Amino acid sequence: MNHRLPPGTPGNGISRRRALGLASAVGLTPLAATACSPASQASSAGAGASGTTSSPPAAAPGRPPGRDPLTTDAQNRLVLLGTSGGPPWWNDSHREGVSSAVAVGDRYYLVDAGDGVGKQIKKAKLGTWTPDMRGPLDALVAVFLSHLHSDHISDLYNLLGTGLQNGVAIPDRVLEIFGPGNRGALPVSFRGEQIPADQVVNPRNPTPGTRETIEAMVKTFATDFNDRIIDSGYPPPRDFFTGRDIALPAELVDDPNGDPHPRMSPVDVFEDDRVKVTATLVQHAPVFPAFAFRFDTDTGSVTFSGDTGPSENLVELATGSDILVHEVIAAQWVAQRYPEPRDAAAEAEYQHLVGAHTTIEDVGDIAERAGVRTLVLNHLVPGNWPVEEWEKAGASFSGELVVGEDLDAIAIG
Ligand SMILES: [Zn+2]
Repeated sequence: MNHRLPPGTPGNGISRRRALGLASAVGLTPLAATACSPASQASSAGAGASGTTSSPPAAAPGRPPGRDPLTTDAQNRLVLLGTSGGPPWWNDSHREGVSSAVAVGDRYYLVDAGDGVGKQIKKAKLGTWTPDMRGPLDALVAVFLSHLHSDHISDLYNLLGTGLQNGVAIPDRVLEIFGPGNRGALPVSFRGEQIPADQVVNPRNPTPGTRETIEAMVKTFATDFNDRIIDSGYPPPRDFFTGRDIALPAELVDDPNGDPHPRMSPVDVFEDDRVKVTATLVQHAPVFPAFAFRFDTDTGSVTFSGDTGPSENLVELATGSDILVHEVIAAQWVAQRYPEPRDAAAEAEYQHLVGAHTTIEDVGDIAERAGVRTLVLNHLVPGNWPVEEWEKAGASFSGELVVGEDLDAIAIG
């Protein structure tokens, strides 16, 4: 094991099992490691029991920032760029929006592009930094979007628009952005109701996919792109980046309002000389399609859940992975946020949160069944929840648990 544990502090987001395992690797004493893990003792008191009956954790104001990021010297590594679910920015949260990198040697690949992704690439020192504006995005090979919710794509334009001057614009290569295709039909509410016609945005194409979203983004920012072409001699952006819809078997996509999570085996998405990327559909209804991704490298593999409720497709995709990066939501917060009785809007949001996300009580079992070595929690909702609450996920997982912090770097394999 070659990622290093920063100086231990109470509630530092690393389970006792992990802390003890790392202690021998870095020369910490078991006593010091044990002091790092108060929540692992709490977890034995029944984290899997109802999370809705005990009094809620204290609110976040004044909460100190999280522990120092994990570091590694490994060439192949997972880097968490942002660990907060959204779209809220969360009062007093130190976490940026969700985005992760898989770095393989001197290149890297992104999963999602949430709020702050550019700033976090800079802090993580990914890619090359030279005075001639070739980096750091010259080392970025491809972007994989789990779905098109705003908290996963809100800084995509930043990456591509300002990216032209930060390494995206390289002759003879096209940065590919992979993601879901056009849904094909508007979703219906959990009660089976259609959205009123006068409230539909862009009724001629209300559910564009990844390719169309990138094309529309270029049109939206045409003033700037044209200025760069005329004033600075850049070729058009289509020469530098393009959106690609992930292809799925027709029988899985012909009824987007049917089963939003049909059982399937992984499909191939991308392969080069460093990674092979496969994907599967996950349960984020009414969002469809919504993807999980698996990256296989020479040294090991890492799977990203995307946004999902418990998913058998995901378990199949992740089986045998070294690392599972899984989203998680605090059921206690959901119940607190949407108390009964709920009006129609509150009920809709409540149903989405409990049905299309995975709770602290459930996520450990998923990782256990997939047989992964390390479970990394990210897309934390809410983004300002106490770390000791997230650590309770370790109650049903026998491997290493990492409550992700922004800029954590973890060796793959
Ligand atoms: Zn999300």
